[in-house]
Amino acid sequence: MRLASPNPKEAPLIDLGLYKDPDDVRKVAKALRIARELAATSPLSDLIVTELKPGNHVSDVELEAAVRAAPSHYNHAASTCRMGPSTDAMAVVDNHCEVHGLKNLFVVDASVMPLITRVPTNPTTILIAERVSDWLVTRFRAQRGAIMSDCTFEGTNER
Ligand SMILES: Cc1cc2nc3c(=O)[nH]c(=O)nc-3n(C[C@H](O)[C@H](O)[C@H](O)COP(=O)(O)OP(=O)(O)OC[C@H]3O[C@@H](n4cnc5c(N)ncnc54)[C@H](O)[C@@H]3O)c2cc1C
Repeated sequence: MRLASPNPKEAPLIDLGLYKDPDDVRKVAKALRIARELAATSPLSDLIVTELKPGNHVSDVELEAAVRAAPSHYNHAASTCRMGPSTDAMAVVDNHCEVHGLKNLFVVDASVMPLITRVPTNPTTILIAERVSDWLVTRFRAQRGAIMSDCTFEGTNER
């Protein structure tokens, strides 16, 4: 992921690198062959009239070309702003989701996961958000309390 320009309103350039490693194509083509074998067994096969695309008579090379022509992923982007100690050059936020080197700037979403989770990312993101929002409420209530106790008006105890 790279910045397209210094303009913050311009969308970033995201290159997922799909199929840059030739082994990835081979693995997906192999998975398709396994899916075909499964689809050829009953009762699923009873429901299937024919394979529309790329068609079940294509060669291995044609199957790999079909895989390459339709790159896809399951959209569970995570870890682009990952959590870690300040000694880790790739870590953006600390273990409370506060950006290293900046006070009171927090990132709280799937991007802070140090690595993509083995479980679904949506509930994990919700749990991260619940945890951090609790910390933030406690922290800012304490800060506000400290500020308010410094703000007594002259001649009164009003706050
Ligand atoms: C097709 C698809 C299927 C998925 N299926 C599952 C599933 O079955 N189970 C599962 O656990 N996870 C699933 N996920 C993944 C899950 O949706 C994400 O991991 C999760 O939503 C990440 O949460 P987030 O808060 O990081 O980002 P998001 O949910 O993307 O939230 C980002 C929010 O920021 C808003 N936003 C963006 N730019 C701005 C801006 N400039 N100003 C203000 N707001 C802005 C967006 O509108 C959005 O509401 C799926 C994702 C996709 C795309």
